[in-house]
Amino acid sequence: AVAAHASALSKVYGQGETQVVALDQVTVDFRQGQFTAIMGPSGSGKSTLMHCVAGLDSFSSGSVRIGDTELSTLKDKQLTQLRRDKIGFIFQAFNLLPTLTALENITLPMDIAGRKPDKQWLDNVITMIGLKDRLHHRPTALSGGQQQRVAVARALASQPEIIFGDEPTGNLDSRAGAEVLGFMRNSVRELGQTVVMVTHDPVAASYADRVIFLADGRIVDEMQNPTAEGVL
Ligand code: ADP
Ligand code: ADP
Repeated sequence: AVAAHASALSKVYGQGETQVVALDQVTVDFRQGQFTAIMGPSGSGKSTLMHCVAGLDSFSSGSVRIGDTELSTLKDKQLTQLRRDKIGFIFQAFNLLPTLTALENITLPMDIAGRKPDKQWLDNVITMIGLKDRLHHRPTALSGGQQQRVAVARALASQPEIIFGDEPTGNLDSRAGAEVLGFMRNSVRELGQTVVMVTHDPVAASYADRVIFLADGRIVDEMQNPTAEGVL
């Protein structure tokens, strides 16, 4: 099954002389249970592609489907609901709430949605992320790497169908990064989750089932990784 699909997706910023074509007729499938890395030079459109497919950004033309749902047919409220039900996000800036503890930040999206976490799964996520003794600290009492791990745990906690990550291991040392990527890969295998990750790091990309390369707003290459074990 196709978890997310973009068809002839274009995104233009600005108008007239200052116009920038960030995406130029991109067509791509993200299949269920597949871990995809998006690579390419700075400014090639990686973040824009991810934001448009995740329903965070509007686009200029083309279409995006999440599952069977065409995003352009949704009202804002329905789009918010769809993101809440199906999608987990890991951003470069962690977006943690400073007044909440690590654990409260992790369960916040589910609290808002009125859903109970699967306790066993939540325990696994927290153990894997190595945060057991930091759960009741506020973000300011955590290192950058620890904050990023909280953000990763928050995205995984509700077992979303699709996880979008923008440099999800960019602030982690290589060991913590390897643990997070290994966990993401396993949860793809075990839960049939779909992961789409923007990264500059070839080591991080080696955990993905396939890598797509962008340049100037177009997909210029695609590589399958038959082993996808990561190099660490
Ligand atoms: P990447 O993630 O590969 O670095 P981006 O998707 O951030 O690329 O950007 C693609 C192009 O769109 C770049 O030329 C960038 O400067 C431009 N761009 C991105 N966001 C905006 C914006 N909000 N306004 C104007 N131009 C933008
Ligand atoms: P990334 O590291 O993901 O490529 P950038 O540093 O390019 O991110 O962009 C950070 C933010 O600034 C993004 O929200 C992007 O949309 C916005 N942005 C990028 N390029 C421009 C631009 N030329 N004009 C306005 N906003 C931009």
